[in-house]
Amino acid sequence: MTPFLDLASDSGFGLANLPYGVFSTAGHPARVGVRLGDWVVDLDVLEQHGLIAAAGAGRGPVFSHASLNAFMALGADAWDAVRSRLQDLLRADGAPDLRDSATLREHAIVPLADVTMHLPAEIGDYTDFYSSRQHATNVGTMFRGPENALMPNWLHLPVGYHGRASSVVVSGTDVVRPSGQQRPDDDAPPVFGPSKLLDIELELGFFVGPGNDLGSPLPMAEAGRQIFGFVLVNDWSARDIQKWEYVPLGPFLGKNFATSVSPWVVPYAALEPFRIPGEAQDASAGNPEPLPYLRQPEPRSLDIDLTVALETAAMREAGADPHVVATSNAKNLYWSPEQQLVHHTVNGCNARPGDLMASGTISGEEPGSYGSFLELSWRGTRPLSLPDGDTRTFLRDGDRVLLSGEAVRGDLRIGFGEVTGTILPSDSTAGGLPLAS
Ligand code: MN
Repeated sequence: MTPFLDLASDSGFGLANLPYGVFSTAGHPARVGVRLGDWVVDLDVLEQHGLIAAAGAGRGPVFSHASLNAFMALGADAWDAVRSRLQDLLRADGAPDLRDSATLREHAIVPLADVTMHLPAEIGDYTDFYSSRQHATNVGTMFRGPENALMPNWLHLPVGYHGRASSVVVSGTDVVRPSGQQRPDDDAPPVFGPSKLLDIELELGFFVGPGNDLGSPLPMAEAGRQIFGFVLVNDWSARDIQKWEYVPLGPFLGKNFATSVSPWVVPYAALEPFRIPGEAQDASAGNPEPLPYLRQPEPRSLDIDLTVALETAAMREAGADPHVVATSNAKNLYWSPEQQLVHHTVNGCNARPGDLMASGTISGEEPGSYGSFLELSWRGTRPLSLPDGDTRTFLRDGDRVLLSGEAVRGDLRIGFGEVTGTILPSDSTAGGLPLAS
């Protein structure tokens, strides 16, 4: 499939991808678009001109909104129909409606450089899982020793917790260093102040489609058709706040100050060629078979390359490229997105359009594939060396973190783009509490 627009030969944003996002341009409010190469195709314009009708002819518009929720709520048949129609409208040898109309092209096709990206959805609920075996093993080893690294439940269910939707932000949003209670000395009282152990978590997130009614669990057979698409997630974490507060109810203020997502939602359908079996969940791999509701017959895993890069303030001033500190892959997840969603609703909990669910930190087996600074620096005991001679254990003010992702097989490339955020000092907001040193 060749589009009628010129794309770089190695673009991860060809017709096989077509990720959805919410964008605005000067003087025009936010609406829905798809990315094609370094262009954004304005779906609001196409919808207004009758070139696409996601909800069916005569039904209300879904792409004029500043979120994807209305489109997500329509379900997988509507997503498939719109995706096919867009591929037809945008290919060189496809439908002429857009391709051959100079007026329409001028209105509907916007250079990527001219747009501001927004959060792709109004996120009602955000849930974060803990689905990478190596990450859970690394953290468990650090805090409990190698014999007790995985808790007894871990191989039987996708462990998760309810996160905070209000502080989910789009890529590029600065992150103010959080302050809170910590207890650096186990024999002394807790102290209050800016987090000294500020960290990232490299995660893959997905948005829920229509969802389920309260009291009606989603079965595994329907789970795939309920997943709208995927984004990269940086689940910023303050390890010192987390360590002191998490007993016995789990993550709270060490996590809910910010979670960043990439702006382009890669459709579930675009990742079909990258589904792989994943680690066997049965005795052949020495693992317990999950309970029947969690068994997934089709390939569970996704082969997506993931990268963590760091740009310090000094590197930025020197004009140096961000330094790659870790490379991982989504195939390092033991529990799949479908299993996460099915488990989340098995008690009758209702998932709704635009809900965000994230995988948990994705770490591979090699130290260079760990998805957090907690693991990369092994709790601060092994500082990372940067090209300019600087070192890092955890993040400093001015540090900018870039997570990126791409699925590649032969000539087929599906890009996720990146999710970035820069750490601002704790006193960079007006007002607030006086901070003890
Ligand atoms: Mn997380």
